[in-house]
Amino acid sequence: NSIHPQRLFKHADLSVRLAGPEQLNPKPDVDKLSFGKYFTDHMLKIHYYEGMGGWQAPEIMPLENLVLHPAAKVLHYAVELFEGMKAYRGVDGKIRLFRPELNMERMNNSALRSGLPPFRGEELIKCICRLISIDQEWVPHSTASSLYIRPTLIGVDPTLGVATSESALLYVIMSPVGSYFKSTGKQLGVSLLADPKYTRAWPGGCGDAKLGSNYGPTIQVQQEAIEKGLQQVLWLYGENNELTEIGTMNVFVVFINDNGERELLTPPLNGLILPGVVRNSLLSISKQWNQFPVTERSITMREIMQLLSENRLLEMFGAGTACVVSPVSYIDFLGQGLHVPTMEQSEPIYQMLQKHLLDIQYGVIPEHPWSLVI
Ligand code: PMP
Repeated sequence: NSIHPQRLFKHADLSVRLAGPEQLNPKPDVDKLSFGKYFTDHMLKIHYYEGMGGWQAPEIMPLENLVLHPAAKVLHYAVELFEGMKAYRGVDGKIRLFRPELNMERMNNSALRSGLPPFRGEELIKCICRLISIDQEWVPHSTASSLYIRPTLIGVDPTLGVATSESALLYVIMSPVGSYFKSTGKQLGVSLLADPKYTRAWPGGCGDAKLGSNYGPTIQVQQEAIEKGLQQVLWLYGENNELTEIGTMNVFVVFINDNGERELLTPPLNGLILPGVVRNSLLSISKQWNQFPVTERSITMREIMQLLSENRLLEMFGAGTACVVSPVSYIDFLGQGLHVPTMEQSEPIYQMLQKHLLDIQYGVIPEHPWSLVI
């Protein structure tokens, strides 16, 4: 990146200041966790100052508040990006990360889009591994829970110019997250609000980068869904109401194609869609299985309704780090209630994919190229 021809940070320069016994927090009961409410004892911080050569040495320290100038760019122009990844405690007791290099690649793409400095992903992964090993008792001893990791990069220049950041802060905080299955162990189908008057992303925009500014404006729409008794938003784009994403998940559809076979479909990475790590993984696994055709192409609400009327739509699901796979059972589209029969299939593709991914993440498949053991 020519804007920032500066020094990169290295794991070898990492310093650690541990919390004293009086600073350690009690670990919450994993059954009572709500998302992102409790944080581990330590955090990672890496400062960037253009005037001081670029990236500074990484530091691990007790979790603390940030001190920012009131003009800091992040507070005015939302110069902020983040990642979401998880550490899993496997059936063998080992802690694993899942394809963290893809999160690093996406984080660098988000940085480029925001005028924030790039960095070497493998160095940040090594620093994150150290942070996890220091707070390892915070990784839940359960194959239904995990430790959510939130790398964040903000522009902190104390100047109001809408310009590239000369000072930035990269930090990482971690939060234990609970079971995504209810105590019965049975997954329930989610209901969606699909309202064409709202758009999450558009051509030439930044919906394919993980910027905080993509998420703030979705909160009111999500709230509207809840008020209508629905659980998530199905984001549509354009005159033809193309399906783009489900809440903060990528969308997948399984249908009977013109050859009478089951086919797995997801919209292509055309700039309107976040390139999900789980999306990428489900596509790879399905292609490797070679049991059904797998396509990346746009699909419209008209096609969904056509397929439903011909009983050819079998499954719809969201895919993302938060819940792996989330089956859909209902869509509210312009006042019509569409029942999607995902939960009625006898051997649904979503379940096969979910099981395979969880088996990799929780070490049931002990050695897998996508697992990074800490
Ligand atoms: N789409 C959006 C809008 C998201 O916020 C996320 C979560 N990062 C995803 C899809 C799924 O991405 P991943 O599989 O990397 O969690």
